[in-house]
Order: sequence, then C-alpha cells, then structure tokens
Amino acid sequence: MSDSFAEELQVALHAVRDASAICQAVQAQISPDSLEKKDRSPVTIADFASQAAVCRAIGDAFPDDPIIAEEDSAFLRDPENAEFLAKVQAAVSGRLGGCDAEQVLSWVDRGGASGYSPRFWTLDPIDGTKGFLRKEQYAVSLALIVDGVIQLGVLGCPNLPVAIGGQNGALFSAIKGQGSRVQPLEPENALPQVVRVNKTVNASEARVCESVESGHSSHSDSAMIASKLGITNDPVRLDSQAKYAVVARGEADIYLRLPTRKDYRERIWDHAGGVILVEEAGGRVSDVDGKPLDFTQGQALEQNRGVIVANANLHEQVMSVVQEVLDSGESTT
Ligand code: AMP
Ligand code: MG
Repeated sequence: MSDSFAEELQVALHAVRDASAICQAVQAQISPDSLEKKDRSPVTIADFASQAAVCRAIGDAFPDDPIIAEEDSAFLRDPENAEFLAKVQAAVSGRLGGCDAEQVLSWVDRGGASGYSPRFWTLDPIDGTKGFLRKEQYAVSLALIVDGVIQLGVLGCPNLPVAIGGQNGALFSAIKGQGSRVQPLEPENALPQVVRVNKTVNASEARVCESVESGHSSHSDSAMIASKLGITNDPVRLDSQAKYAVVARGEADIYLRLPTRKDYRERIWDHAGGVILVEEAGGRVSDVDGKPLDFTQGQALEQNRGVIVANANLHEQVMSVVQEVLDSGESTT
C-alpha cells in the first residue's frame, strides 16, 4: 500500500458520508415533543447506526486495522432493548440497503478495540450528542493513527455550512502533509476546496470558540484568558469537533478546552479527527501545558490535560496566558 493514504481517504470519506446521512435521517424525525421531554433515544439510535456504518466500511476495506470507537454493543444485545436494535437496523438499512440485526451488532463490535496499536482508527460516531438533540452542531469524526501520528482525519458536520452563508452539510478531510479540505457532504463528486486557518496576529482581534457545556470546558477560565488577551468579542459556543473545523477554516482563531476537573482525561475520538484538520490547515494544537497530544495511550489522552487550539501566529501567546491563569490560583479548577 502506498504512503499517500489515498485509498484510506476514499473509504473514510464514503463511510463518514453514509454515517452523516444516517444521522440526518434520524435527526429529521426528532419531534418537538421528544425535544421537550429531553428524550435521548434518537441520539442512541443514530450513534449506534453511525458506528455500524463506519465500522462496516473500514472493516471491509482494512480487515486488519483495529478501530477504537466510542460505543459497544452491550446495550443493543440486551433483550430489553430489542426495540432499539430494530430501529438501529432500520436506520442502517435505510442508507446501506438490507442488513440483519446480527450484522449490525457485528459491525458495532468492530469498533471495540481499546488498546494502542501501531496502526488503528478512532471513531466518534456522533460527537456532540447534546448538539444533535438540539438540532445544532454535531460531528462524525474518524481518524487513522499510525505509529502514534494522526495520518488522516475526516469530519462530517451535517449542520455546518460548507462555506459561510452556504448550504448546510460539510465534509472536512486532511491527510498528513497534504493540507485540509472541505466539500459538501452531497453530492459525492463535489470538488473539495482547500481550507486555511486565519492569519490574525493581534490577539485582541481574535475570536474564541468553546464548548456549549461548561461541564466540558471551563467558561469562567476562558473568560479570564480572553480578558487578559484583550479579547472583546464574545466566545462562540458550539458543540462537537465543529470547533476544530471553524478554526481550520479561519472563522475562529482560538479553541479553548480547559479542564473542569483535575482527573478528567480527554478521549482520543473527541479530538483526533479535528486535530489533523487544524494542523494541516496551518494551525497548532497542544494541551494546556503546551505538550503535543499523545495518541499512544489507548482510549484516553492519559498524558495530557485540556486542549489549546490556535492559528500558528497566536498559539504561543495564548499558551502563556493559559498558563498564567491556570497557575495563578485564579482558575476555578
Ligand atoms: P463538546 O461538544 O465540545 O461539549 O464535547 C463533547 C464531548 O465532551 C463528549 O463526546 C464527551 O466525550 C466529552 N466530555 C465528557 N465529559 C467531559 C469533561 N468533564 N471534560 C471534557 N470533555 C468531556
Ligand atoms: Mg464525543
């Protein structure tokens, strides 16, 4: 196999496109009533169906590659949840054609690797489940890691416009050393466009994005950091790795993910796809201590805390203010 990862890219784009379409079909059926009741069943169904679709494609094309994915099939195998299994099967069949429940379970199980290996994929079948339920931002995130280095990332963002003011449904991709691109999720043959980070040099003009959930990233610490950087723009809050996508294409300059608890370790599937997208678009990613993210530790980023993403001009300056705030005792964590 060549080193250019061309075949892997084609398989990954196809897989994430199918998974995104499955998520969109399930999301379209969320009723105002289930929104009101905060019913999580649509995201449960879409999550498993998305994982089944992606793992089926990766496993068929690269049967020796382990996949570290977020879900496992225990819930679906419980006879009490037979109704869910039937709905997952229907969601998968709706996009990929007829399949039976056993096949769906076996595809979900392909994502069951947990330890590090020299070559593996990592998948978040729906990143930003809360955004999915609110019909806001969510992402299907897939990455290939070889010898601890992310070589390929694909991010499906069904509710993000392909370009500012354009149609929703963006499919981002990056290969190490080959830049980052975006194309519409559909049609399949749409031409990809190169994306680049912003060149903002003056931190006070920067736009910051962060999680909607203050339990996932400290809003109070980021407000302190923004103020010390002289930033007056309000932060843009959005769910999922769509934050990496907006930094990669220059709509925001900084993405802060600041620990809310000392013992929380970020999950690799919440970052790998987004990290390569930003790096190949010219940006920089580290943890809050300035260390590179270490993808050799299994499911979690055991050696890292938090994540700081910024365009290359601003990363160092942002890092020093992050450290000032986190070390000063002003931080809430
Ligand atoms: P976001 O959409 O940026 O809020 O991130 C969603 C992801 O946050 C989920 O996929 C979870 O894996 C992850 N998550 C859950 N708890 C925490 C936490 N305490 N700190 C950081 N991330 C978390
Ligand atoms: Mg996630």
